[in-house]
This record gives sequence, structure tokens and C-alpha cells, in this order.
Amino acid sequence: MTAQLDLFGHSPAVRETYGIHSAALLEKAKGPGGCTCPLCGQNVKIYRRTITAAMVVALIKMYQAYCRYKWSTEDRDRSLHVEGLLKRCDCSSGTRGDFHKLRYWGLIEKVEEDRPDGSHRNGHYRLTPKGRQFILEQTMVQKYAVIYNDTLYGIEGDYVGVRDALKEKFNFDELMKEEVL
Ligand SMILES: [Zn+2]
Repeated sequence: MTAQLDLFGHSPAVRETYGIHSAALLEKAKGPGGCTCPLCGQNVKIYRRTITAAMVVALIKMYQAYCRYKWSTEDRDRSLHVEGLLKRCDCSSGTRGDFHKLRYWGLIEKVEEDRPDGSHRNGHYRLTPKGRQFILEQTMVQKYAVIYNDTLYGIEGDYVGVRDALKEKFNFDELMKEEVL
């Protein structure tokens, strides 16, 4: 749990000076109105993001692409430009906009690559071993990611498998049969 290391973006050193009990504050920040940060006075609201059916569809597309042309390559080359993949698969804009949140659950990881323009935003992600196990129904994840300011504060809630996460909106077996370009 990273919550003990960092409170609402303030460094641990600052937090210690003020003697803040971060666990209690985090709970309060998850409430309906959030809480006031004792360090800077700003209102802080922490969100619980659910792993959605659309995200899991994107993960399945990644898995299928790996099956088609990635498992045979070197580990370091196993990355995909996911947005491009999802476009080719006619996935909705919601799916394309949300898939990157799968990294909160450790199901995918962003590929950091220095480019000449100094940008890290190359849009490439890897399916992790955990992501693969999730698709193969060998592991489950807790339903909610606790997020503040794009930082993960923890994972909580009931455990869900790939079929639970797809809900009634999508049929897992049908999705797994689809061809990936
Ligand atoms: Zn603050």
C-alpha cells in the first residue's frame, strides 16, 4: 500500500513534520465530500475506480494480439500500441480511453521509452503475467482501485474474475473466439 509513503502529493518529510495520520485521512477523503488536506488546505477527494467491462474487453484484445504475434518475440519487444490495436478492432472510444487504467491492477504495464523529443508517451503497453492469468481465469483482482491525482493508493473490494468483470454486457467465450487484426 503506497498510502503510507505519500499523502495527497505531499512528500513523507512534510507529512511527518505535521504528524499526520494518513490512514484516517484517506478514509475520510474517500467519503462523499472528501476532506480538507491539513497540509495545504485544499479539498481532497479520492475516487474508487471500478474495473469495467470495457477495460476487460481491451485486455482480451491485447491477449489475443499476443497469441497471434507476440508470444514468439523477445520479452522486451512484447509491447503493443494499444490504441491502434483497439481502433483496428472497432472498439468504442470509451474502451480506447479507459484501457490504460488496467495498469492500476497490474494487468498491463506502460513501456517507458526515451524518445528524441523527450516524450515518454509512446502509447505502448505490455500485457503482464498477471494480465495473462486473469484472462486465463487463473487469478482474480479486487474490484476497486483507489486513485488520487493519477496515483494509486490501494486496491480494495470483492475479488472478481474475468467473467464477473465483463458482467452481462459481453460474453467471454464469444470474445475469445474473435479474430484480432
Ligand atoms: Zn495538500
